[in-house]
Amino acid sequence: MSQDAAGDATSEGDLRNTGMSLRHDREWDYELERIIEEIEEKDAKKVGLQFPEGLKRRGPAVADDLRALAPDDVTFMLSGQPCYGACDLDTFLMRRTDVFVHFGHSPMKNSDKIIYVPLFSNVDPFPMMEEALEELPEDDVGLVTTAQHMNLFDDMKEWLEGEGYDVHTRKGDDRLTHEGQVLGCNYASADIDADQVLYVGGGKFHPLGLAMEHPDKKVVICDPVNNVVTVADTEKFMKQRYGAVHRAMDAEKWGVIFCTKIGQGRWEMAEKIVDENENAYLITMDEVTPDRLRNFDMDAFVNTGCPRITTDDGPQFHKPMLTPGEYEIAVGNKPLDELSFDTFHGTW
Ligand code: SF4
Repeated sequence: MSQDAAGDATSEGDLRNTGMSLRHDREWDYELERIIEEIEEKDAKKVGLQFPEGLKRRGPAVADDLRALAPDDVTFMLSGQPCYGACDLDTFLMRRTDVFVHFGHSPMKNSDKIIYVPLFSNVDPFPMMEEALEELPEDDVGLVTTAQHMNLFDDMKEWLEGEGYDVHTRKGDDRLTHEGQVLGCNYASADIDADQVLYVGGGKFHPLGLAMEHPDKKVVICDPVNNVVTVADTEKFMKQRYGAVHRAMDAEKWGVIFCTKIGQGRWEMAEKIVDENENAYLITMDEVTPDRLRNFDMDAFVNTGCPRITTDDGPQFHKPMLTPGEYEIAVGNKPLDELSFDTFHGTW
């Protein structure tokens, strides 16, 4: 994420003295007109604004822009809750506002009160896609990307077709908004009839999950944000997961985490574990962090909330932290070779 020039996010977005057009350094489209229209149509007096972590610093500037455009009696409130996905709406703020705007993610579930502003990346993926071709020797290729690059998905598909590929795409399930979209917890859009898949997007964790979920496919990672092309290699990741499962095999007391975030709750899964294991204790929480669990006297934890917390942050917890599938292996209900990536389906 690029830094604000000179770090003055407030003056950057404050139009009251300049009369200039609305611009931010990445030229993201915050869809201010759509938000203002909705505020006027609903005669809203309280408006909630929620930004993901990487964009929180833009919040005041966007609020400034909106304040300049909205009627004087409208109050804007910025959510201070952590936010990592569309599964993670600030429901507390949402209940207290007439219009709630969620920036940075595409809708997981629509509602009259919520405006989703997806904020697409403006990086050009095609130079890196050109480099990725070397890793894609077959005629058929699957194409997936994240919400940030979704605005160019059709162009990417067309470009690959122009290079002679038969491009396979699909919309996974109802947790996903778009054809070809993947989430850190859902790769159903890659259930396509091709042995190689091109993932276009930043970060290394999405494609690792994708490669684990589809071990029969070659997953080529084209990262136009960091300008690298790699082939997903799950070995190190698998070793880390096997290590966590092994360390949890002797555990007696289990903390079973039920996440209270709106799109991360798997109640039945959590309930089943505590029903079947008298040494398991249900712990409810919104943010699942090492600090919050440190004072619980448990031997191991199983997280039914966001799978990325378990896999990406797992080593930071003071006791082994497992996914529900890994828990089944650790307690002997399933063999070790059934270790798989934890995915999440449905909404709420
Ligand atoms: S559950 Fe985790 S991986 Fe899935 S959308 Fe939410 S934050 Fe992303």
